[in-house]
Amino acid sequence: MHKIIAIDGHSSTGKSSLSKQISKQLGFIHIDTGAMYRAITLFAMRHGFLENGEVDKMGLIEKLDEIDIKFDYNAATEKNEIILNGENVEKEIRTMEVSNNVSPIAKIDEVRTLLVKIQRALAQEDGIVMDGRDIGTVVFPDAPVKIFLTASAHVRAQRRYDELKAKGVDVTLEEVTANVNARDKMDSERANSPLKKAEDAVEVNNDDLNAEETVEAVLKIIKEKLG
Ligand code: C5P
Repeated sequence: MHKIIAIDGHSSTGKSSLSKQISKQLGFIHIDTGAMYRAITLFAMRHGFLENGEVDKMGLIEKLDEIDIKFDYNAATEKNEIILNGENVEKEIRTMEVSNNVSPIAKIDEVRTLLVKIQRALAQEDGIVMDGRDIGTVVFPDAPVKIFLTASAHVRAQRRYDELKAKGVDVTLEEVTANVNARDKMDSERANSPLKKAEDAVEVNNDDLNAEETVEAVLKIIKEKLG
């Protein structure tokens, strides 16, 4: 069994930053699977398969074999950035428009099948930290370490709002709160691979922990599990 660390949890709990820090400290590869669902959403938007919140599911499914998703490590940002059909779309996938449309795309069985296949292939490399919603439950049910990261809704919305504001995005706290809540509801209620804690995952609530304290708490759990 490869050293796979599965980090799942609610939106805006800081899963990706946490996973990035952990992978750096352990010398592992980090894969942000949310970026993959966002990339397919961007593809759907660009090809007219998403109009006014409605998904042309059949249209998108027919085009899935034209989608190539890879990661490319950027030493400057110390991040594995997402490449959609040869284009680095790391920035384009972080807009509110993509955030508002990603959950209906992530519900589609064919989309999940495609991405889970890529995720499993990426884990052929030894030592990987993968974050998402279904990593410990579906993608790697045998992962030796599973973390379920959570925090209360208002704390998560405020963090996400601060992050977007810092990037200069014009958005209100109400919009961000609505998006975080809607995504968690849709992600938890979908039939295929819903967001839920794996039975053997360790739950970490970081309401009262800052980013560094969260990294410390999770590294402690990893060391206990991996020895
Ligand atoms: O992690 P992030 O918030 O960027 O994920 C964006 C969306 O992608 C989630 O709200 C969810 O709908 C979807 N997702 C998923 N399964 C994963 C990762 C993300 O369904 N493993």
